[in-house]
Amino acid sequence: MTDPPHDPTLADYRASVRDWLAATDIPSVPLDLDHRFEVLKAWQGTLYDAGWVGISWSRESGGQGLTPLHQLVFSEELARARAPMPIGLIGLDVVGPSIDTYASSEQRARLLPPLLSGDEMWCQGFSEPNAGSDLASLRTTAKIDGDRFVVNGQKVWTSWAHKARWCALLARTDSDAPKHRGISYIAVDMATPGVSVRPLVQMTGDSEFCEVFFDDVEVPRGNLIGDLNAGWTIAQDTLSHERGSYTLRRMVEYDVAVEEAFAEIRRHRSAGGTVAPRTLEQLGRAYVSVRGLEAQTRKTMARKVRGEVPSPYDSVDKLSLNEVEQRVYSSISDLLGPFRLTPHDPSAGLDSARWVKDHYYSRAVSIYGGTSQVQRNIIADRLLELPRG
Ligand SMILES: Cc1cc2nc3c(=O)[nH]c(=O)nc-3n(C[C@H](O)[C@H](O)[C@H](O)COP(=O)(O)OP(=O)(O)OC[C@H]3O[C@@H](n4cnc5c(N)ncnc54)[C@H](O)[C@@H]3O)c2cc1C
Repeated sequence: MTDPPHDPTLADYRASVRDWLAATDIPSVPLDLDHRFEVLKAWQGTLYDAGWVGISWSRESGGQGLTPLHQLVFSEELARARAPMPIGLIGLDVVGPSIDTYASSEQRARLLPPLLSGDEMWCQGFSEPNAGSDLASLRTTAKIDGDRFVVNGQKVWTSWAHKARWCALLARTDSDAPKHRGISYIAVDMATPGVSVRPLVQMTGDSEFCEVFFDDVEVPRGNLIGDLNAGWTIAQDTLSHERGSYTLRRMVEYDVAVEEAFAEIRRHRSAGGTVAPRTLEQLGRAYVSVRGLEAQTRKTMARKVRGEVPSPYDSVDKLSLNEVEQRVYSSISDLLGPFRLTPHDPSAGLDSARWVKDHYYSRAVSIYGGTSQVQRNIIADRLLELPRG
């Protein structure tokens, strides 16, 4: 992606990112989840110390006070250098920006610096066994008792809950109010007695998400983010980050993945190998879809710079992301052919174990952050103004 012409400082910024990355030991990412967590946590600390975390966050909140375009340039250079993202993305990209917007200055001062440095991880306690797409039906309660809430209920699909210090919890604080109005957004310390976490195994073999149980968990009232019963608005803000900004970063990763696949094809062919025409066609289509997402990303950046977020256009981004990610990784999986079954065989050229994992993980993208069906509903209803039903 080339820099937008109206901001010449971005070229200097890009050069400084490249210089830093060239002079830095970039960690390789272990496949095993626990090792991966430790390596990427340390990497977040390295990035933070060098001033590359919270790039578009205000200086008051511990960030660098630059623009979302600087953030995008950094993410792009990181992906091009095959360097991993920091581990705390739920905090950095999803929950943190909402805390930055809605929390009090005391809360921001306490919560945000360790979130940025990676010293304290966050998880997002929204979904429940009977409240996913219909999130406002959630049943976890937080009852006021003097100067504390007493939380009871269960969350599910809570990514990184077993590694998190804090949970951004959505809980019902007024059972008599209409369902969207009786919800509050509360920061819960995961070390509090009564919180228990049970990891779930995914098809990738990792246990990245968990069930979380709250059993008479006492939380200070001072941990309420924003106003009592106003959590739905903050939840929408959080989801918009998951649907909008996240897309920008992922787009560059798909671009790099397709480039690597084409490099492998060139290598394979120059060694006398052949590639099935169907696989080439699939990869060609994947390449075109990434270019489409890139064009869309530019529009999203412009919206972000104008402050037009959250917006129903975030759903267009998320829907496109779902389709592009699955197209990219399933074509690479096709390219691997029988090497899919021989992880870690260096003769396969591509890092088959990693690609297979990415392919499996891509099945989840059309579910998390709101399913594809739900995004289509939002687009039909709020952008196209089609009649319901
Ligand atoms: C990898 C992964 C990580 C996740 N991480 C987190 C996390 O950290 N924190 C968190 O809170 N949640 C997380 N989630 C949960 C995710 O947000 C939910 O799975 C998602 O909102 C869907 O909810 P559900 O699974 O209950 O499915 P349901 O809502 O029960 O939906 C089941 C099916 O019905 C369809 N459907 C539902 N309603 C409609 C409708 N109105 N119109 C058309 N179709 C509909 C859905 O599209 C889906 O296909 C994660 C999920 C995954 C897969």
